[in-house]
Amino acid sequence: MTMFDLKKRVAFVTGGNGGIGLGMAKGLAAAGASIVIAGRNKTKAQSALAELHALGAQAEFVDLDVLEEQSCRQAVQHTADRYGRLDILVNNAGTTVRKQPQDLTAQEWRLVMDTNLTSAFYCSQAAYPHMVRAGGGKIINIGSMMSIFASSYATPYAASKGGILQLARSMAVAWAKDNIQVNAILPGWIDTDLTRKAREQVQGLSERVLARTPAQRWGAPDDFAGIAVFLASAASNFITGTAIPVDGGFSVQT
Ligand code: NDP
Repeated sequence: MTMFDLKKRVAFVTGGNGGIGLGMAKGLAAAGASIVIAGRNKTKAQSALAELHALGAQAEFVDLDVLEEQSCRQAVQHTADRYGRLDILVNNAGTTVRKQPQDLTAQEWRLVMDTNLTSAFYCSQAAYPHMVRAGGGKIINIGSMMSIFASSYATPYAASKGGILQLARSMAVAWAKDNIQVNAILPGWIDTDLTRKAREQVQGLSERVLARTPAQRWGAPDDFAGIAVFLASAASNFITGTAIPVDGGFSVQT
């Protein structure tokens, strides 16, 4: 369907070498976009690229450490130079440190805030002139249930995920005049490396998630292919500054 067609579009996905980022990259690739996945882990990137190439996509991996401002700016610039344009930015890279607030060090606080929130600002700012030049663009920030709920063991994570939602809304307002739509996705509990670690650390987590999720299952990275295409395509051209849960009903269950 033309409305969802992403041929000739170029997408840059931070943390697109695995998990939810790869699930989104695969959706964008299947809709015809050229994809740059960016991250640190090259082994993961190789198998991610194999999956993207199997979909017939033009795809490559770029080294990125989102903790470094220059790395963010260079990776975005490389994408625009290599493909001559940049249409879609997915701010997906993320991490967490599971501790009670009183036990966190300043370094741990900064690690989570800089990875999850500040990097999205750097990448979006770097992408902006390229999107203006292309006549518009799409930015998708990955939030969390922690954008709206709270947890005693996720203080910087929840702060960063609340922040990335407000960052999306602020950029949406600022850049609507440039035909750039900025939205957030709020994943529920998704089976990835990140939550595999959580399940090891927090006893009974898996059972609690299943009991609290109306869909009665954990989400999978592939559950993010459709929302990525929707928010990256002309189908969402009048939708900006919003946050869409992809959570099997987690956020509406009392
Ligand atoms: P993964 O651990 O699979 O993915 C995280 C990605 O972030 C990795 O690809 C990783 O790349 C990248 N990343 C982390 N730190 C850096 C860094 N310093 N520089 C570059 N890349 C970095 O977990 P998910 O797929 O679950 O997480 C993706 C996003 O979804 C995160 O923002 C997370 O907070 C969010 N989310 C996840 C939920 C879940 O249930 N899984 C729920 C709600 C939100 P590399 O391995 O190369 O470092």
